[in-house]
Amino acid sequence: MNTTKSESIYSEAVQYIPGGVNSPVRAFKSVGLNPIFVDHAKGSRLYDVDGNEYIDYICSWGPLMLGHSNEEVLSGVEDIIRRGTSYGVPTEIEVKMAKLICQAYDSIEMVRMVNSGTEATMSALRVARAYTKRNKILKFEGCYHGHSDALLVKSGSGTITYGVPTSPGVPADVVKDTLVCRYNDLDSVKQIFEEHGQDIAAVIVEPVAGNMGVVAGKKEFLQGLRDITNEYKSVLIFDEVITGFRLAYGGAGEHYGIKADMTCLGKIIGAGLPVGAYGGKKEIMDMVSPVGPVYQAGTLSGNPLAMYMGYKNISILKDNQNIYKELEEKAIRLENGLKENLKKLNIEGTVNRAGSLVCLFFANGPIENYEDVMKCDVEKFNIYFKELIERGILLAPTQFEAMFLSNAHTNEDIDYTIKSSYEAMKIAF
Ligand code: PLP
Repeated sequence: MNTTKSESIYSEAVQYIPGGVNSPVRAFKSVGLNPIFVDHAKGSRLYDVDGNEYIDYICSWGPLMLGHSNEEVLSGVEDIIRRGTSYGVPTEIEVKMAKLICQAYDSIEMVRMVNSGTEATMSALRVARAYTKRNKILKFEGCYHGHSDALLVKSGSGTITYGVPTSPGVPADVVKDTLVCRYNDLDSVKQIFEEHGQDIAAVIVEPVAGNMGVVAGKKEFLQGLRDITNEYKSVLIFDEVITGFRLAYGGAGEHYGIKADMTCLGKIIGAGLPVGAYGGKKEIMDMVSPVGPVYQAGTLSGNPLAMYMGYKNISILKDNQNIYKELEEKAIRLENGLKENLKKLNIEGTVNRAGSLVCLFFANGPIENYEDVMKCDVEKFNIYFKELIERGILLAPTQFEAMFLSNAHTNEDIDYTIKSSYEAMKIAF
């Protein structure tokens, strides 16, 4: 694989950008490579500046349910831009977007648009704290909710990859009210509620943890969180930045049949543009300025271009809900193929899947929490990754992330991936 141009751009990039990348998960450092630089992408394929073609399972880390550069999502974009890119006064598309989200989610009566998942979770917590007049929050080990200070504790995603689950630079005082429990472990939650329940403003959880590989929340666990937060009058926040509009049209809330008090969204609702949102019960959202006293604002929040593309993305999903079934079938095909590979080669491994999110762990299962995830053979994964990229398959460059399938991935893509994965496993083990 020739990466001459990528290498040349990278050598310049590191002089001006920390690590040469604008988000650490984009560096291929953990697998001992330098990143590829993208030229363009279409459907399931990504093309780098050296002309290499990849079947892409990063898919921008989740937003591209319909694949890259979907024509239907893109149509009309130029006209929108020519009208103006940002106004600082409201546009009708923001209202249409909010209405679409509220209609999709039983649990969301009102929603506020922001620019990222990080802003969504940070703002939701602020509102929940003001609403309950309590300070403590509870999160789960290995769950990532963006990079706001209070949530960078025993976090997931790149923080695991780079071994900084709790980041330096976050003052101890700021995280003294952040409690952490084990994912899928209701007893640990009960214990902490017995001790601190009256002070816990909110429990924030990824209903399917997509930032320590893929670890689905068990129904009893999530229902238990619903029950205990009801009992103690804490706010239950589902961080659906990954699962929103992916696990089902109504996200994890619909999939599990559990209504959170607040829900955070991102990724798919922006179709690849910088968008996030938080919403929930009207009574809680009425806390937000200018109705209530909780301040939260954004120069570019509800940006017309982002709203236009996000609205189109969601509308396509709404009108074609067969996509969820088709996508799940493809994900099952991949899951089964990977499992078969492990079996044929007698390799210790586990494939976790939730809807169209798939993750192959090089460790024996079941993998249900952070501790289980940390048993994975990262060295083997790194070899596996390198073998796959050589074969034109782009995984997230770390064991601790999901494979994101899009509707643009074909059965042929999946079958080629399974075949290549077999070869890569054979070399890695
Ligand atoms: N919450 C979850 C579950 C995420 O996966 C992410 C990012 O991957 C975030 C929050 C933060 O979103 P953003 O990167 O848009 O700030």
